[in-house]
Amino acid sequence: MNLPRIALLGSQHRKLMDHFGSDPSGHERAAIVLFRKFSVPETELAGSERYVAVDVIPFENNWVTESSATHVAFRLKPLVDIFRRCEEEDLVLGFVHNHPASATSFSSVDDVNESVLLNALKNRNGSKSELIALLWAGEKWHGRLLGGSREDEAPQIQHIAVYGDGITVTGHRGDHSHADGILDRQAAAFGRPFVDVLQSLRVAIVGAGGTGSAVATLLARAGVGELIIIDDDHLESSNLNRVRGSTIRDVGRSKSQVLKEYINGLGLNVSAYSMNSSVDLDPSAIDVLSTCDVVFGCTDDQIGRELMNLALYVYGFAYIDLGLGGRVDADNQGDAILRNHHARISTILPESGECLFCQGVLREDWLRRQQALRDNPDLSEEELDERYLSGGAESAPGVAPFVGAAADYAVANLFELIRRFRRLPGNVREDMYSLDFVNMEVSSREKRSDLSCDFCQRKSFTLMNEHYRLNRPALGKRNELA
Ligand SMILES: [Zn+2]
Ligand SMILES: [Zn+2]
Repeated sequence: MNLPRIALLGSQHRKLMDHFGSDPSGHERAAIVLFRKFSVPETELAGSERYVAVDVIPFENNWVTESSATHVAFRLKPLVDIFRRCEEEDLVLGFVHNHPASATSFSSVDDVNESVLLNALKNRNGSKSELIALLWAGEKWHGRLLGGSREDEAPQIQHIAVYGDGITVTGHRGDHSHADGILDRQAAAFGRPFVDVLQSLRVAIVGAGGTGSAVATLLARAGVGELIIIDDDHLESSNLNRVRGSTIRDVGRSKSQVLKEYINGLGLNVSAYSMNSSVDLDPSAIDVLSTCDVVFGCTDDQIGRELMNLALYVYGFAYIDLGLGGRVDADNQGDAILRNHHARISTILPESGECLFCQGVLREDWLRRQQALRDNPDLSEEELDERYLSGGAESAPGVAPFVGAAADYAVANLFELIRRFRRLPGNVREDMYSLDFVNMEVSSREKRSDLSCDFCQRKSFTLMNEHYRLNRPALGKRNELA
């Protein structure tokens, strides 16, 4: 089980860097960062919480009593309003400072400062209050978690992740043993820190069919520390041509359970968990997404995909979505032949890339059509076409090598987010591309840049203060968002 993880958006990171660099004499500077805490309490997934920054408040000059290149001292009084806000909005206080000149780790002065701050917070907000301390030193984030109800004397964190154009992970413990040599060949391509970062991640795979099973097994072999596989479907014999990790004896069993058992049986340094549920019908599956660093969408379900397209902004995680589409004809003998077949891979970060609506992957009329079919499974294709236009959404035959290629590229997209290695040709976008298996091409559609888009342009949902799981009390029904 990974330890608690801390997340910042790229814009928050830059705001802090600007503040740290703004002292004309190069003194230490301090700021408050407020975090929303996401967890899945009382399950086997408890303990690996995720703290996502929602606000950055640089210290004002008159809060600071004295400072130098090696210390900063401040008054507590101006912070009381922030303590109150933490209580009212259920936020976790973060104290952030930099060491422009001194040690690249927390100092004994920091120990004292933070304990004074924590005590003041506990006096105001209660004895279970938590304090996150972040330090920028040596061009890296360092972090620790103080207070709370933990028994641990010196609670550690797993890492600090910054979600900008990619994912920059620092402060990870990096103490994973490489003695077994399993990841040596991967480290030969990307380096040891890359391997440690993957080990540090919690990744969800939504959909455990052809693409999802391939993605999950690739992630396990790549050394991702925690995998959570979410699917409410059961294995059928027609899945066996492409679902990895399954055998004929598994037919009828839960796909997510089968895949979890397969991955945990590999003997790798990975913990896999399964949820036999659907992200858009099960509130606890949404809770799980909120605690993940990265989510892979491997479903052909438009409603589930739409939910994840929203969740990536609200919870601030990286989202990689896969879909296969194509057209099958009959040849002269009446046998099926592929005329067109492609895999689309989308990579969306909270502050980078177009959302799935702008990418043309999601459409309101497709969502309405799928919802109508859910509400009334007896509707015929003709009736659906009449009311909701054509199906349109990606649907495809399931052919193992194409499904596998889509998964290979999607996992390589995660690698690219952590350590850039690609040189993209001009017609291929970072946030979405298609692999054409018939014409053997890689290409992207034109960017739409719909400036009125609430998801990726106006950012209406980014770190939104949801009151109840994406504001969807009636999960499974699309309802109006704030
Ligand atoms: Zn310090
Ligand atoms: Zn958009």
